Amino acid sequence: MPKPAPASLKIVNPADGRVFASLPCDDRAAVRDKYRAARTAQTAWAGQPLAERLAVIARFRALLVRDAEELARLLTREMGKPIAQSRNELKGVLGRIDFFLAEAPGVLAAEDVHREKDASGGSLVERITQEPLGVIANISAWNYPYFVGGNVFLPALLAGNAVLYKPSEFTTLTGRAIAERLDESGLPRDVFIPLVGGGAVGAELLRQPVDGVFFTGSVATGKKIARAMASRMVKVQLELGGKDPTYVCDDVADVAQAAASLADGAFYNTGQSCCSVERIYVQEGAFESFVKAFVQAVKGFKLGDPTRERTYLGPLARAAQLEVLEAQVADAQRKGARVLTGGRRVKRKGNYFEPTVLVDVDHTMAVMRDESFGPIIGIMSVPGDEAAIALMNDTEFGLTAGVYSSDRARAEKILARVKSGSAYWNCCDRVSPRLPWSGYGNSGMGLTLSRAGIATFTRPRGWHLKERSGSM
Ligand code: NAD
Repeated sequence: MPKPAPASLKIVNPADGRVFASLPCDDRAAVRDKYRAARTAQTAWAGQPLAERLAVIARFRALLVRDAEELARLLTREMGKPIAQSRNELKGVLGRIDFFLAEAPGVLAAEDVHREKDASGGSLVERITQEPLGVIANISAWNYPYFVGGNVFLPALLAGNAVLYKPSEFTTLTGRAIAERLDESGLPRDVFIPLVGGGAVGAELLRQPVDGVFFTGSVATGKKIARAMASRMVKVQLELGGKDPTYVCDDVADVAQAAASLADGAFYNTGQSCCSVERIYVQEGAFESFVKAFVQAVKGFKLGDPTRERTYLGPLARAAQLEVLEAQVADAQRKGARVLTGGRRVKRKGNYFEPTVLVDVDHTMAVMRDESFGPIIGIMSVPGDEAAIALMNDTEFGLTAGVYSSDRARAEKILARVKSGSAYWNCCDRVSPRLPWSGYGNSGMGLTLSRAGIATFTRPRGWHLKERSGSM
């Protein structure tokens, strides 16, 4: 049968809607060939000494430093991230690489956990080794390609896996740039292979007999992946969405500072972070002053061309999300919410939406229940801690949650009762390579980062080693 012609992927600049590149998508045969190549390459890669694998990733780090400006500009062009924030991401990933390089030797080392002598003078050793999973599929999101991609492919490669990397169709050129630099770092051919295309290519990748699937993206796609993999005995990790709440107590030391910190947590990356603050509850006594300071902070954000140094809010990466935001605003207004600032698309070319603050919101409104993934926030007044805890937990998600208060014990007591993978006191929208990144409910299953986020790319193997006396 003739091979169907590969469809092409158009790369659009979200700041002006113009197509600036076009790439042929991988078709079924290409995905299969890439899988086979990765399968062949993986064994030799796993057989290399760890020191060599560490050296490759260290060289990759140096290339990210060398090419930081070029890579930041590419990221800004294809997904609209303001240039200062693209540079921050390139800088931020270096700390993650340093963590992986420092911790991988300890996590991946073989460990003798028990040793005993038997009566006849023989010995028994029990050992754990960390074997790579094999060939893994890394299907990724566009909002932080270096972070969310790197959280998977960096430790996976260090652990001796081969990676089939399906970047989001909104950051394909960045995915390719990553592959080129891994290649230049001396990574053996086919150990890391990028795929080109959208959901259909991701779905085709899942039809290959991969040894693990590591996905970052929406709940809807995560569920499709869980269904597609349900009958296969391989590890599946899903890092999905959030509707992350923060509660501001009336004892907060500095209301204006809390407001500025939370405005940044809600609107950084134009609100397109999985851990963006998406709901704020403020204790009655602090509500008015908090809202005033919050709106003032938001009005200070500079929206515009993401290539400009001072731009803080860029276009949304996906045009379709404009409709989601419009629908959330309309639904909230219909149910009695007030828009204090913003609320509409910006009348200019590109996917721009005004930074939007809503009050008089409640949990019947989509804006307080569904992930917005854009520059929009609902702020709600609450009488006290019990109400705040109930509202924070009234969600299908559980990625992060925060409390702003001058009383650490109070904050920790509240956070202990909120279901979330990460808990923040007097901070928000923060990720550390040293801490596990995971979530409750529809925020997903499995984890990345921390030492456990290296071990997750291995299969621990138990060895029972019995030596008879006199055999040495
Ligand atoms: P998405 O689900 O639309 O796409 C994610 C990836 O899945 C893309 O590469 C896409 O091509 C692929 N895909 C789509 N359909 C597929 C299918 N049927 N089979 C296999 N692959 C398929 O998500 P997105 O818009 O790229 O990312 C935004 C979402 O990601 C948000 O919900 C955000 O909260 C979430 N996210 C979560 C984290 C986290 O750590 N929990 C981090 C970043 C982003």
